[in-house]
Amino acid sequence: MQVSKFGGASVKNADAVRNISKIVDSLVKPQVIVVSAMGKMTNAFEALVGHYFAGDRDAMITQYKYIRQYHESIVVDLFGTLKEPLLDPVFQLLNDLEVRLEQQPSMHFDFEYDQIVSFGELFSTRIVSAYLGHSGIDNQWVDIRHVLKTDDIYRDATVDWELTSRLMQGTFTFVNAPLYVTQGFLGGTLSNITTTLGREGSDYTAAIIGNALDAENVTVWKDVPGILNADPRIFPDAGKIDSLSYAETIELSYYGAQVIHPKTLKPLQNKQIPLFVKSFVDATLPGTVIGKDGEQDSMPIFILKRNQVFLTLMARDFSFITEDNLSEILALFSRHRVGINLLQTSALNFTACVDNKNDLTPLMDELKKKLVLRYNDNVELLTIRHYSQEVIDEKLEGCTVIDSQVTRKNARFVIKVN
Ligand code: ASP
Ligand code: MG
Repeated sequence: MQVSKFGGASVKNADAVRNISKIVDSLVKPQVIVVSAMGKMTNAFEALVGHYFAGDRDAMITQYKYIRQYHESIVVDLFGTLKEPLLDPVFQLLNDLEVRLEQQPSMHFDFEYDQIVSFGELFSTRIVSAYLGHSGIDNQWVDIRHVLKTDDIYRDATVDWELTSRLMQGTFTFVNAPLYVTQGFLGGTLSNITTTLGREGSDYTAAIIGNALDAENVTVWKDVPGILNADPRIFPDAGKIDSLSYAETIELSYYGAQVIHPKTLKPLQNKQIPLFVKSFVDATLPGTVIGKDGEQDSMPIFILKRNQVFLTLMARDFSFITEDNLSEILALFSRHRVGINLLQTSALNFTACVDNKNDLTPLMDELKKKLVLRYNDNVELLTIRHYSQEVIDEKLEGCTVIDSQVTRKNARFVIKVN
């Protein structure tokens, strides 16, 4: 059997749903398809749960109407009516959501988040499954929350692999249908409370199913022709990579390439299941294959992380940066949950490049108690894997290099664009 994952962009409107239905029709069966919330609906649900939790009823109702209308207009476009019996489950869900929004929220935001945001995937899968059925494509809708079992850490749930594998093998049997449609991103606790796996978690869901069912392969369908060697919005001459190893792909996501959800690779690598990244815009293109013998070693890969802050720490008394102040400094970063994207130490300095997205002030205040702190904000971190001097010179033209770290495979630069 095989697994295919369709992300939000691939189901963002009625034409998109018609397009993926054609792709699904052409896929080899048996097949499980994993679908994300439509378009940017997860963001819309995040806003909804925000208003709900804050008790802002007017804003909540406006947002609910927007979400409802978004889905209804897709449904009307697909079915020509809202009165198609195949759509009953969609209206049942709308009703369930309304009932929930009428209740007082608990005091646990992450819990409320999962209970509400999960409707995005429930709607999308119900609509896609109904539309496939309407188009004569035999399929069965599966509630993933009954088979993908997690702990109760809401918004970042951890999978119970053993139980999940057993339940999935008992459910995805292909006895009643050659095709199952299920939700990405969602899970359920032992007591059947909805959880989620973290934003963009649907790739991971596909990998979990692939692992549990020993899939022949897993395909993630995207709006790009495969994995590119750079973000085409930043580097217009970006090209597609034909094949990559698991290890190389894990490295790429570590350095910040937004190729695939980072948790996706391990479950596939453990069972040597190939992962294809293909275009839903043109399903005939070969895409990229990630597997054990990926070949990428010559083509340079560029990963740019924007909006970085570069911190330099020095000991106050002009003493050295030693192992014990290092471990203290790192403990502070970890306690404040600030990830370090590039780290270097010398006798007198400790430098770190970090994302500017969290509030860094509490960390900086604590660091300043012990050390002299200087920082540069609004810098970028460029990683070039498989670099050559020529490529480096070309990419750094017009930039001021604030720091660099060059190893056998990677050349990394903290830069300011002039
Ligand atoms: N719908 C979820 C999100 O947007 C999960 C996913 O798309 O992978 O984060
Ligand atoms: Mg999404």
